[in-house]
Amino acid sequence: MAGQGRIAHAWRAARRTAPPGHLDAAGCNVPSDRVLDAVVTHLRLERERGGYRAVPGLGAPRSALAALADAGPADVAFLESGTAAMAALLGGWRLTGRRAGRAPRVGFPRTEYGSTLMLLRRLAARYGWEPAVLPVDGDGRMALEDLEAGLAAGLDLVIVSHIASHRGTVQPAREIGELCRAAGVPYVLDVCQSLGHVDVRGAGATAYVGTSRKWLAGPRGAGFLIVPGLTPAMDAAAPALGGHLWDEAAPEGVAPLPGAARYESAEAAIGARIGLGTAVLEHHALGPAAVYEHLAALGRTARHVLDGAGGWRVAEPLDEPSALVTLRPPPGDTAERAAARAGTASLLVSVVPTARAPLDLREPVLRVSPPPGTPAETLQALARVLVSS
Ligand SMILES: *Cc1c(COP(=O)(O)O)cnc(C)c1O
Repeated sequence: MAGQGRIAHAWRAARRTAPPGHLDAAGCNVPSDRVLDAVVTHLRLERERGGYRAVPGLGAPRSALAALADAGPADVAFLESGTAAMAALLGGWRLTGRRAGRAPRVGFPRTEYGSTLMLLRRLAARYGWEPAVLPVDGDGRMALEDLEAGLAAGLDLVIVSHIASHRGTVQPAREIGELCRAAGVPYVLDVCQSLGHVDVRGAGATAYVGTSRKWLAGPRGAGFLIVPGLTPAMDAAAPALGGHLWDEAAPEGVAPLPGAARYESAEAAIGARIGLGTAVLEHHALGPAAVYEHLAALGRTARHVLDGAGGWRVAEPLDEPSALVTLRPPPGDTAERAAARAGTASLLVSVVPTARAPLDLREPVLRVSPPPGTPAETLQALARVLVSS
């Protein structure tokens, strides 16, 4: 049953004073006591030694993060959020059309994240990129035959969120990677909702864009890139946040730093990066495969408990192997009102506004994303809240 077992026990033991009723891992998860201690310890060290003398070794965090995506420590760059990471990655990319005389085409499913779409719009206007919306099925899952046809017709970059913010469907990341690789097209996988939640290894992406505070349960204010497939066309954006070399021999007098370091912001909340590292090491210690299995079971339980309650309907397949659960309101109720009632019952859920996925969402949905160790009783309490409109 959900909420029982080794992972549930270890997760709860690591955060004894956390409030119960937290069902928003996809928004901002519950960091462990050790994560909080690591952040505070570093802040104290900065005060005592002087900030520039309290330089931590971030090698272990880099290796631990990289290992979740088949990469090495030199492939990791820390930034401030997933959005900042995506902007750093795409902003300096000198995309060229593979087909002579054609603008570079950037493909993405219509379920893509709002801030990524906004960024793409700006970059398309500035650099003449041509956006191409790729087909998805009724569950928002990418249609692989259509992707294959799109690649053959001339895509120059593919961007996909492994799991979206507004729907718990898990994209076939590995199959997408195989098709992109066969076509020689770079592939950016947004793992903000998937790293620490489902297995990302084997996706074979050129770059992964992630964030600390969601399923990895790190602190706020940290995001990252993992870039195992760096190419010469992938430069740091200008103005860079810390990632160019002064080089008189380079075409513009500046050259990118080697490796993913070109993307990393130099001045930063270093304590947050250390906290993220601690969270990732805890994830490895729990055993990633067992965490993913536990979360998939929790998601299934949540969907079966909540689907139909008060007329609310789960938006993704009931047995989808994720713990990101979204619900559409019945006539006469709204996600905002249900979230407010949940709050009164000390349950934290979130409302996903249409702006989060403007090409896909027609009305706000209620998002329920239980962290590991959530007892089934908490989900049953939420079902009663949904009924009581
Ligand atoms: C949260 C999220 C982001 C952005 O991450 P931030 O750290 O909030 O900037 C990007 N993509 C998806 C799918 C997300 O859920």
